[in-house]
Amino acid sequence: MYIDSHCHIDFPELAARLPEILDTMASNEVSHALCVSVDLPDFPRVLGLAEQHAHIYASVGVHPDYEDTPEPSVEDLVRLSNHPKIIAIGETGLDYYRLEGDLEWQRERFRTHIRASRKTGKPLIIHTRSASADTIRIMQEEGAGTDAGGAGGVMHCFTESLEVAQAAMEMGFYISFSGIVPFKSAKELQAVALAVPLERMLIETDSPYLAPVPHRGKMNEPGFVKHVAEFIAKLKGVPAEQVAQQTTENFFRLFKLDALPR
Ligand SMILES: [Zn+2]
Ligand SMILES: [Zn+2]
Repeated sequence: MYIDSHCHIDFPELAARLPEILDTMASNEVSHALCVSVDLPDFPRVLGLAEQHAHIYASVGVHPDYEDTPEPSVEDLVRLSNHPKIIAIGETGLDYYRLEGDLEWQRERFRTHIRASRKTGKPLIIHTRSASADTIRIMQEEGAGTDAGGAGGVMHCFTESLEVAQAAMEMGFYISFSGIVPFKSAKELQAVALAVPLERMLIETDSPYLAPVPHRGKMNEPGFVKHVAEFIAKLKGVPAEQVAQQTTENFFRLFKLDALPR
């Protein structure tokens, strides 16, 4: 069984095809998916999916690319995450690629999420793009890591260097790889995936974005996470079942879910 640790199946283009998407998950042995929140106005539909489907979990957070959206307070995030199906805080982090100018508000928003994670004990889902030095620095300053009494979390859709992965792993974080890894142009990232131990790894689709080979160009969906796992298995020279089992165990350990899936 595989778990998609990061998807956006509440987005209208996927939500409109939900029965089909859940069927593809089942036929591809994808047992669970984590539907990740990107802003507060759309959070009710994320929570709704998790409440309606036993195998869908959810998070609460405001994405760093969402500039004109209500700013969350620590109290908002703590209150909204007080639900058994809300297992993480995020996605949060820094993105200096999509936005320019004075991005102090992004760093403040990131600190707010880390404080909520420390308060609730729920792990962080961190997005970082063209901002790895500031991301790691703020994680350290705010005590995001398990080494500093934080709840740890996951560096999602990882595309940074091995040094950044190692700095995050030292803080107790997991590294999540997406459908970018199999791309022919992603040789450096493949070297990072080879070096990150399976014990610290999660897999994800980030759907509807980033369809992996052989579906590149199509709309992505959680069922396709199987192809990410198969590619990583080949890269590491291990059976796909081993990647499936280990990343599934990691997911349940990180998000403190007691029952392992069958
Ligand atoms: Zn992201
Ligand atoms: Zn995302």
